[in-house]
Amino acid sequence: MKRLTVGIIGAGPAGIAAGVECKAKGINRVFLFEKGTKFCSTIRRLYPANKRVDKDYKGITVINEGICSFETETKEEFLQRMKKYIQDYDIQVEYNLEINGLEKKGDDYILKAGTFHIAEAHIVIIATGIFDRPKKPSYPIPEEVKERVFFELPKELPHGEKILIVGGGNTAAELACLLAGKCDVYLSYRRPQFFRINEENLKELEKRKEDIKFFLGSEIKALEAHNGAVKVLFNDGHSESFSKIFYCLGGSTPKIFLEKMGISFSDNKPVIDEFGESNLERVFLIGDIAVKRGSIMFAFNSAHRAVKRMLEKYPNIQLL
Ligand SMILES: Cc1cc2nc3c(=O)[nH]c(=O)nc-3n(C[C@H](O)[C@H](O)[C@H](O)COP(=O)(O)OP(=O)(O)OC[C@H]3O[C@@H](n4cnc5c(N)ncnc54)[C@H](O)[C@@H]3O)c2cc1C
Repeated sequence: MKRLTVGIIGAGPAGIAAGVECKAKGINRVFLFEKGTKFCSTIRRLYPANKRVDKDYKGITVINEGICSFETETKEEFLQRMKKYIQDYDIQVEYNLEINGLEKKGDDYILKAGTFHIAEAHIVIIATGIFDRPKKPSYPIPEEVKERVFFELPKELPHGEKILIVGGGNTAAELACLLAGKCDVYLSYRRPQFFRINEENLKELEKRKEDIKFFLGSEIKALEAHNGAVKVLFNDGHSESFSKIFYCLGGSTPKIFLEKMGISFSDNKPVIDEFGESNLERVFLIGDIAVKRGSIMFAFNSAHRAVKRMLEKYPNIQLL
């Protein structure tokens, strides 16, 4: 079992930035655990190739507070940047390891994968994000259409098919623009107009408005299997069949996972202070799980704040 000063769960932007901040402050025995085969699994899985990664995500400007930062660039450039941080700061990551339990042992915590004790850490940083649990619609998805319904991008994007995208955020807008011209694209959003989409994406949607059919103010009531396609029944009585449906409804906080670890919740939000420290002393939450609407810059800054706080509150960690 590894004995660590800081054990970080999740090697996305938040976890990597926490590793960088710890290493820069001379903290020894820092280790990341990542359930995917590579770092930034969420970004690799959910961002389409060449996606523009916005620094001011959802139109919110976040001033960089710590070491990690970036300017708007492509997915591939962003992943290169993260790889360089890992190399430059000699960040140690163990891949293919899902941590799903914490157990208190004296002043430390044991990080567990099932019944296996993986590491003992004095400080734990949980940076697991929210996108492992995509939000799902309230109506059931019939078994017969399940393979036509997606909550993340499939390996191969559809071509020449009739596609419905459900959602009104940047992810829905970017996917609609990506598929416009290649597929017959429909976009269903329950509000009468977009209000969460950033300027760039609004402009892109405007440019492609001939290629995208908008169902604004539309609510889906149910899905049915119909002649090898998915029939969508809308609340207004109209129905239409599609070859595939992509839900872009965002992610949700992994409440059960965190509660099992002993993290308290109030109003469905984890109870943390302004630095991300939870009700469990020396257990910090950073990145998407620590905030309602996350972004990469927020993830970077939350890592910086947590590590700064750790050093102020627990100065002995530099000696461990
Ligand atoms: C389609 C899409 C487009 C987006 N575009 C932008 C954009 O342009 N600009 C922007 O700023 N933000 C964007 N975002 C949001 C941004 O991706 C997130 O805010 C950011 O990735 C949060 O970083 P994180 O490290 O908190 O979580 P994540 O990036 O989700 O990383 C969490 C990591 O933890 C790992 N993990 C999860 N559970 C465990 C476990 N139990 N054990 C070990 N490892 C675990 C995961 O595999 C993953 O690698 C977008 C999001 C999506 C879905």
